[in-house]
Formats: sequence, structure tokens, C-alpha cells
Amino acid sequence: MTTAEEWNAGFEPRPVHEYLEATVAQFGARPAADFMGKVWTYGEIGALVDSTAAGLQAMGVGPGVHVGLCLPNTPYYTIFYFAILKIGGTVANFNPLYVEREIAFQARDADVRIMVTMDLKVIYDKVEDVRKEKILDKIIVCPMSFCLPTVKKVLFSLFKRKELADIPKDDAHVWFDDLQTKGSRPKPVAIDVDESIAVLQYTGGTTGVPKGAMLTHKNLAANIEQMRCIFEKAKPGEERMLCVLPFFHVFAMTVAQNLSIILGAEMVLQPRFELKALLDAIVRKKVTLFPGVPTIYTAINNSPLTEKYDLTTIRLCLSGGAPLPVEVKESFEKITGCVLVEGYGLTESSPVAAVNPLDESRRAGSIGRLAPGTKARFVSIEDRVTEVPLGEKGELLLHGPQIMKGYWKRADATADTITEDGYLHTGDVGYVDEDGFIYLVDRIKDLILCSGYNVYPRVIEEAIYQHEAVDETIVIAVPDEYRGQSPKAFIKLKEGYSMTADEMKTFLKDHLSTIELPREYEFRDELPKTMVGKLSKKELVEEEAQKRAMA
Ligand code: AMP
Repeated sequence: MTTAEEWNAGFEPRPVHEYLEATVAQFGARPAADFMGKVWTYGEIGALVDSTAAGLQAMGVGPGVHVGLCLPNTPYYTIFYFAILKIGGTVANFNPLYVEREIAFQARDADVRIMVTMDLKVIYDKVEDVRKEKILDKIIVCPMSFCLPTVKKVLFSLFKRKELADIPKDDAHVWFDDLQTKGSRPKPVAIDVDESIAVLQYTGGTTGVPKGAMLTHKNLAANIEQMRCIFEKAKPGEERMLCVLPFFHVFAMTVAQNLSIILGAEMVLQPRFELKALLDAIVRKKVTLFPGVPTIYTAINNSPLTEKYDLTTIRLCLSGGAPLPVEVKESFEKITGCVLVEGYGLTESSPVAAVNPLDESRRAGSIGRLAPGTKARFVSIEDRVTEVPLGEKGELLLHGPQIMKGYWKRADATADTITEDGYLHTGDVGYVDEDGFIYLVDRIKDLILCSGYNVYPRVIEEAIYQHEAVDETIVIAVPDEYRGQSPKAFIKLKEGYSMTADEMKTFLKDHLSTIELPREYEFRDELPKTMVGKLSKKELVEEEAQKRAMA
């Protein structure tokens, strides 16, 4: 097996846009993106990247300039992403569902003065309000009509005009069309792959105050090459990738978009998660690759709609971002006949750090082995320094070419997160077995300190998932007079099921130790999720704190 050192010695980082150029040269006539039935070839996307890059360069975008992308999954995202990178600029990803305050905070923090967005009222109006606060100088406006096939365009203009924003044409508002000069190309820019920040990626709201992870061209190129090794079974020029995870999130940016680009795969773009539209798209496009988060696979497994669809074209799926319950993996593989593997990563590692092999040696319940070129160590969760013996639980630290340069303008936070010898503190607790498979038990901050013992909410969640009535669950720590803290379970049942707390407790007695048994249970119709679809504890923790403060 290749060691991390050997892999790194053979890795030659390239500026990220060169990967697109290589695919345009090899697969120019092949479809690159499908949006609601309208298709762009790699050749067309490559030409639009060039003309957009030339337009942006004329506006002054180049090294050191941060451009915000506040876009749903549409071809615009890919066009602007590669155009900005090609001229040495930095992409700052924004979640288009953010409220105005969040957009303003991030734009200010990231020094973004130019924002790319669409003419849809629901997104544009917030961006325009941020501009009016003088946080932005310019908005680049991308018309929805460009994305739609002719029939849908007509229907859209007839029925949905009111959803389009009323936008002036002036210096502060540059329209996508006005940025383009057909056939033009940008002046070449030298890019320092080790230092130049390709993407400023704000860490998810689940990790406290958002901070911008600086991901260099080298970081992203490393993760691209690591994905290439992991997906060696994929067939270049033949795959169709379901892109339902939002590109503004690091997982989709790398595993859905950038992996598609190097494979010459067609990206089947879904602007949002809607189950029926997603199932329709899988069948219409005969999707073969499908990266997702566990809640999406769960939704497909548990929906009565699913049996009406033939999902057997799907071959390879990668789940990340949150633990993949074993039942969810097994039932999705049964429905589709695909291989669904769990991987692991975080914003700060561009993101992929570990993945299961895409063959029979994959192990349910494990996040897999380290990605090529990546090293790890496990340290005591008390002092966060002392290495623990092989197989014992500790905080996972990561080292590799995909680890970020640091946090933007936060040297202290960077020093707290990256050790002097270049290892990243992940904040995740886990252990590794003798074969190099890593098992995560939880995040340090989610651990429940119950009568002096560390209780792992994930262990409890896994046990709850084993009950056939359960659709989703979240376990958090709540204050306990006697034990310090104790677990509380929030449960969403599958449609048509009912259950009491006592029934669940009786079921869990066979699966958990007494100390792990939740003292409280709450059944809900919905559980909170982050923008990328991960189950989110934050809201429930806050609710509980408020409830208890008022009691
Ligand atoms: P983010 O930086 O917002 O993408 O979140 C990264 C965090 O997601 C990690 O630190 C983990 O806590 C969690 N995570 C990612 N993948 C997995 C996984 N396969 N199993 C458990 N947790 C995961």
C-alpha cells in the first residue's frame, strides 16, 4: 500500500481551473450540466467560463479579490467558480437561504465587495439590502431565464414573473449578459498554488461563530486527486452525477461538482431538495453517482413514492457530513442495488479526509480509511495532546495536503486548531482498528457527562434507529440534578406509526446500558436540519436551555 509520504511525493498541485480545462479538451462535446432538462456541454461551459473570466477581469477581479457566490445549484455556480479561480480571484461561498443579517456578516468578514446572485426575488432582495447598507459595491445579476429550456421559459415568464426581482441597470448592477464578450478570454494570471486562496469557506452554523476556512488551490487540487483515487471505479466521460447537495457547501463543491469535472460526468442539477423532483431526475437522467447526506437517503428509503421509481441505474453513492445509520445504508443499497459508502470530512479539510473503499471491504458503521496522502493521530480528550494507544478513543487529528491554510483573519483560532506540526484538531472523537478503519463516536462538544461517565449521543441514536418506527432522531445533553447531565431523545416517527416514551424505553433497555438510557423522550413531526440537510442539535439545545431557564 502507498504510504502518505509516497502519495504526497507524487502529487503535483495544479491551479483548480486547469482540471476543467483538461476535461473541456477531452470531453468538449459531452454534456456537463442538466438543469430542468436544458443541457450545456463541457465545450459550452468552458467558453462561458472564459468569457465570464474576461468580463470579471475587466471589472478588476484578480488576485486578492474576493467574489461572493450566492447561488443555488445552476450552471452559473460552475461558470463563476471556475472563472474567478482562473483569474486568480477567491470564491466566497454564500448560502442563498441565509437571511440578510447572515449575508451581511459574512460579506463583511470575508471582505467581499462583489456578489453574484440571481434575479429571483427570494435571493436577490436580501443581497440588494446588503448592498444598500454599503457592504457591497456591485451585484452581478444572473437571469433565471438563461437556465430554463424554452417551454419552461415561456411558462416561467407567464406565471412566475412576480417572483423575479425588479432590478435597475446601473453601475452597481452588472447583468450576466453584459459581462460576456463572445469568444473573449482572460489575460493569463500566474497562480501560487500553495498560497493563493481559491475558496473562503465559512464553517457550518453547527460549530459556533462562522469562520472562513482558507482553502488554497493546493488544498482543493489535493482533494480532487484524492477523490480521483477513491473513485477509480468511475468511468470517465460516462457518468451522471446527481447534484442535489448545495454547491455552496464544501462537500458538494468537491464531491459533486469538482469530482464531476475531473470525470467528465454530467451534473444533474437540483436547485433544492424536493423528493419527487429528485426521483424524477434520477429516472429521467439515469443517474449513476449520487453523493448525499444521511437524511436524503433516509427520505428516499421511507417514502411511499420510492417504489414507483426504478432507481437501479445508481451505482456508487458517498454519504458524508453526518453519521450514516447502518439500517439506512442497508435499505438504500437494497432498493437501488448500488454501493453506498460512508466518508468523513470537514470544511477545514476541503473536505474529504476518510472514505470507505467502494468494494466489498467497505465496513458499515465506519467512516472508512484515511484518504491517500493523509495521516491521523488520536489524542486524549482531556489534554488534547497525549496520544492514546491504538484502538482507544481519542480526538481525531488530521494531517494532509487538503488541510486548510488557516482561518481568515483569525490567527488565534488557527493556532488553536492546527498544531505546530501541522495536524488539524477535528473536534471529533473516534478510534482506529488494526486494519486502519476509523470509527467515530461523537463530537467532543456533544458528549454527555453523565455521573462522571462520557456518554456518546451517537451510540444512543444508533440504538433508537434500530426500532422500525423511527424515521429520524437527535439525542442531546440536558441538565440533570443528580447526574450532572443526562441524555434526552427527540424522535420523528415514520408515517403511520405511533409510540410512547415507555415503549421506546423498554426497547432501548436491550440495546443500551442504564447510564445511556435517555431519561426524557419527545416525539416531533419534524427535527431541525442545517442548510445542507444534516440533523442539527443546536436549535434543540437552545430550546431546552430556554425552557429550563423559564421553569
Ligand atoms: P462541516 O465542517 O460543517 O462540514 O462539518 C464537519 C463535521 O461533520 C465533522 O467535524 C463531523 O463532526 C461531522 N461529520 C462529517 N462526516 C461525518 C460522518 N461520516 N460521521 C459523523 N460525523 C461526520
